[in-house]
Amino acid sequence: MYATAFPTTMTCPDCEGKLSILRSCGRVRMGCGQCRRQFQIHEVADRLDEQAEEVLSRWNSIIYD
Ligand SMILES: [Zn+2]
Repeated sequence: MYATAFPTTMTCPDCEGKLSILRSCGRVRMGCGQCRRQFQIHEVADRLDEQAEEVLSRWNSIIYD
């Protein structure tokens, strides 16, 4: 289970649904609210916008698992 989800304006590479940043202890993923796929940060790195980067920068040490 993910403890925290931050909605973003980024879109899913598969279905164009909205991605949220999902944080659990020690891990961060991007999750699609529509198709429920999850992506590692590096998989959607070229889609990161300013807002998402701002959120991720707080957890710099744990995004590259
Ligand atoms: Zn999707």
